[in-house]
Amino acid sequence: MKYRVAVAGLHIESGTFSPLRSRAEDFLTLRGDEMCERYPFLSSESFADLELVPLVHFRAMPGGCLVAADYDRMKEEIIERLRDGAEGVDAFYFDVHGALSVEGLEDAEADLLGSIRAELPSKAWVTCSQDLHGNVSEKLWRMTDVMTTYRTAPHVDWMETRERALALLLRGLRSGRKPHRAYVSIPVIVSGEMSSTEYEPGKSLYAPLAEESQQAGIWDASLWVGYAWADQERVGAAVVVIGDDGDAVKSMAELVARRYWEQRKNFTFITEAAEFSKCWQEVIADDAGRFFLSDAGDNPTAGGAGDVTDTLERLLCAQSNGPQKKSVIFASIPDAAALHEMEQKGVGSMVRVKLGGKLDPLHGREIEVTGEVRFLLGGENAQGVLRVNCVDVIVSEKRRPYHLRADFIKLGLDPECVDVTIVKIGYLEPELKAMAWRHMLVLSAGGVRADFWEQKYEKRRRPLFPFERDFSWEPEAKLILG
Ligand SMILES: [Zn+2]
Repeated sequence: MKYRVAVAGLHIESGTFSPLRSRAEDFLTLRGDEMCERYPFLSSESFADLELVPLVHFRAMPGGCLVAADYDRMKEEIIERLRDGAEGVDAFYFDVHGALSVEGLEDAEADLLGSIRAELPSKAWVTCSQDLHGNVSEKLWRMTDVMTTYRTAPHVDWMETRERALALLLRGLRSGRKPHRAYVSIPVIVSGEMSSTEYEPGKSLYAPLAEESQQAGIWDASLWVGYAWADQERVGAAVVVIGDDGDAVKSMAELVARRYWEQRKNFTFITEAAEFSKCWQEVIADDAGRFFLSDAGDNPTAGGAGDVTDTLERLLCAQSNGPQKKSVIFASIPDAAALHEMEQKGVGSMVRVKLGGKLDPLHGREIEVTGEVRFLLGGENAQGVLRVNCVDVIVSEKRRPYHLRADFIKLGLDPECVDVTIVKIGYLEPELKAMAWRHMLVLSAGGVRADFWEQKYEKRRRPLFPFERDFSWEPEAKLILG
């Protein structure tokens, strides 16, 4: 016999502190069989008794709050497809990021899964995989039978995690008995820049989970860091443990949570962090080249708009007035209108353009710059390079990440051959890290500022570390018996 498992998801990390809005057209939508490419492991023998019923999957790069009407439409499509194609399914796989913010909703994933659950047969199971930057509320947890998340940041185990969510589901379905499941919400929130699993304390907090998931009575132990840039009560770290021994499940959840709590004061930026002027002093004093700066406050891969000009403006000012000019790559400012003007003039010509400050006018203004068009790349990922005062500013049509060396090479740029590369990012992705001689994090303006505790929150829970620093807390797991 085969277990029929319907799958759908709405995958985005979206914050509430940027005026940027995410819309339906920002999402890559896979419908029906197109979705199968997300789960190539299902062709293996160990999944032979699973029949996938792919419904629809929406995925976008991080951004601002999703517009309510667009969310409603996407939710409606999931529900309609569920009604049409998923009658009598044995289970549902909720394939999401976990930090979706929607205008007017406090807990969007719980809202969506609640509506899905209402359509499922009452006996159907629910499994869920998430990014460890998801904010897991008790409400969401209560609607799932299996829940697991990444164990790495940068996230290299995304495929493994999807596989685990389905393998654990199958393990349960085959046994015919739901696992016991424990949940602890930890009153601690740290930012992505502080919680890489390549550095302490993230490294030691995540490393034991794989082995602990193999212990007697335990099926899986998962730990979420949470997502800081949303003003919601659910924001915080969380632990979910499942297994077939209730006592073991509960104590494992409390152990993982306590271990996290005890390390809370040791989460720091994984590299030196400072205001731009301080970072630039270090740049000037350093002659080795390959100096990387993260313009972290406007990191589009964490939900920033990407077109905040604050750091670029300070950089151009430092180049004009400082003791010496450096060769700099600045990645990037998304601005379709400015790129269009560059394209009109062509490579080699001088242009004067108004740059940035359109998606997020709250944290940075539109600036006017004059420069030489050095490179143009057409097609779906249209980009151009504008050289302004020894700074090669990448102007892109759309918001996009710069994580690979190839992202620069194809624009005629090479971070290995310039003094400084500034990327709108937090911690450096592996290829950038490999190129960097030195790396500093700029505490810059934007919707995802690295020093998030300076941001005004109204709805967050209290107490919550690091907003409140001196309070005691004991982990007490909630337990649902299978
Ligand atoms: Zn993440």
